[in-house]
Amino acid sequence: MLQVKFYGTRGSISVSGKEYEEFGGNTTCIQIMTKETGRIGILDAGTGIRKLGNDFLAMNTGQKDIFIAFTHFHWDHIQGFPFFAPAYDKSMVINILAPGEDRKLEDLKDIFDVQMQDRYFPVSMDEMGATFNFLPIERNTAVFTPPDNIPVKVTAVRHNHPGGAYSYRYERQGIAIMVSTDIEHGDTIDENIVELARGVDLLIHDAQYTAEELESKKGWGHSSYDQAIEVARRANVKRLVMTHHDPDHDDDFLRTQEKLCQQKFPDCVLSREGMTIDIG
Ligand SMILES: [Zn+2]
Ligand SMILES: [Zn+2]
Repeated sequence: MLQVKFYGTRGSISVSGKEYEEFGGNTTCIQIMTKETGRIGILDAGTGIRKLGNDFLAMNTGQKDIFIAFTHFHWDHIQGFPFFAPAYDKSMVINILAPGEDRKLEDLKDIFDVQMQDRYFPVSMDEMGATFNFLPIERNTAVFTPPDNIPVKVTAVRHNHPGGAYSYRYERQGIAIMVSTDIEHGDTIDENIVELARGVDLLIHDAQYTAEELESKKGWGHSSYDQAIEVARRANVKRLVMTHHDPDHDDDFLRTQEKLCQQKFPDCVLSREGMTIDIG
């Protein structure tokens, strides 16, 4: 059984205030846990990863290596990394994972080093303490075998976003989860993404804008609620969670949108910070 937990649901920049309490203010960070073993993996290191790291240390599960996969490296997906407490633990191994063909990553370590240069941040990456492995896997499919010996298959597909970004399909023991955030389909839905989402138990999809808003946000790299629903419908997914909420959308707005979306695709919700979903 897998459990998905949303530690960051906001797009672009973190927000705070009473009007954001329900859906949350931290930027993208998703935890995937294998419930049988308690072992976790992480997707993206937006500001939500700070609490994830604190919770992980408090749970004291004995897990000494963590994989963090990245959809891409825009600020709202890496900015929490310097505040990820397990990275300051000398006994930890942090694996930074960036699978996908055509990534053209000249230096994966450099991306993290730069945001922690002393002009931006007081502690350098080399001073944090943990051991870091940088794994720019130039393939679309990778199979990992965790300590429980049950393989996990990760498939990455590049999608349209300024600078490029990747959707991921994560499969373990017949359960499939897909995450597709920071995706701009354009005038028609990206068929590769529909294929990747085919039949998944849970699709987590970008929905930063309403269809009307998207008209004036072309080239910004995001999707509308309707597009997320169209992918879910066409790929016959079981459940849909929409995320990467626009910083200008408060709780009232998002609640209204969620109701409208549920009229079109009943098994859908908007992501809320702290929300967990069990699958399998
Ligand atoms: Zn983003
Ligand atoms: Zn982005």
